[in-house]
Amino acid sequence: MELEFKNVCKSYRSKQALTDFSVILQEGVHALLGPNGAGKSTLMNILAGLLKQTSGGVTLDGADTDKMGAAFREILGFMPQELGFYKSFSAVETLEYYAALRDVKDSKKRIDELLTLVNLQEDKKRKVGGYSGGMKRRLGIALALLNDPKILILDEPTAGLDPKERMRFRNVISQVGFGRIVILATHIVSDVESISDDCLLLKEGRLIDKGSPDELCAKVEGKVWDIPMTEQQAESYLLTHSCANIIKREGGVFVHTVSDEKPDKNASHAKAGLEDVYMNYFGEVTENA
Ligand code: ADP
Ligand code: MG
Repeated sequence: MELEFKNVCKSYRSKQALTDFSVILQEGVHALLGPNGAGKSTLMNILAGLLKQTSGGVTLDGADTDKMGAAFREILGFMPQELGFYKSFSAVETLEYYAALRDVKDSKKRIDELLTLVNLQEDKKRKVGGYSGGMKRRLGIALALLNDPKILILDEPTAGLDPKERMRFRNVISQVGFGRIVILATHIVSDVESISDDCLLLKEGRLIDKGSPDELCAKVEGKVWDIPMTEQQAESYLLTHSCANIIKREGGVFVHTVSDEKPDKNASHAKAGLEDVYMNYFGEVTENA
């Protein structure tokens, strides 16, 4: 299975949100990483057929996905960034409703499996209106998986999840990722570092780099530094440097930063992680889970 984006462009009146986005994706978990406003949701909505690109196109195994229409929607699972549910439905009722609309086979069994997968069994009969943000996200993931999609799109799936839920979510993706094309749009590196086969870095609507986490990390190796400091020094350093964070570990406090040149005479090289790749390309620290 091969999903190809060919020179996808999108402009909203005066705003160019995507410029010549081209990539070929095979089965696996693909992280679409970039800060807010990078164009991630625009791209996901185009793929889902909810938005029309200004130019360019998307093909699945050579077939234009716009022309495939319903046949493409049948193999697509989409969790949008903004979730809207019927407040008076329970999780089971919500899933049953969409299963009927989507003509899901053996839906009772499927719904039961999905409720277990996303850990909503205990609350499945409660009204969704009373759910926490995290519970709604989990229900959203279950909904996106209802038709056992070959292509699964998740737009900011961990927004509003607490650290425990994030961990659970990563496990869910690892479990369901096999044999599908999963595209996971996020601005939170820790969500995808351990589960993505490759990362697509999107900046101001352009694909600026891509590769496996290891390949991307190799590119910033040698540019990552730890500077020993007192806690006070470290805090004032951060006021003037956006591209840094504080690490506390045995042996003291360090400012961790990415820089082409040695930033301080006491700085020593540190091992590069995907967070450092993000810092290097976007000049800012990613939100931490
Ligand atoms: P992301 O999901 O990466 O945060 P979006 O795709 O939502 O980014 O937005 C990309 C850019 O397009 C942003 O500058 C945003 O303000 C702009 N944008 C998104 N939707 C619209 C719209 N309906 N009208 C005008 N501009 C929009
Ligand atoms: Mg978005």
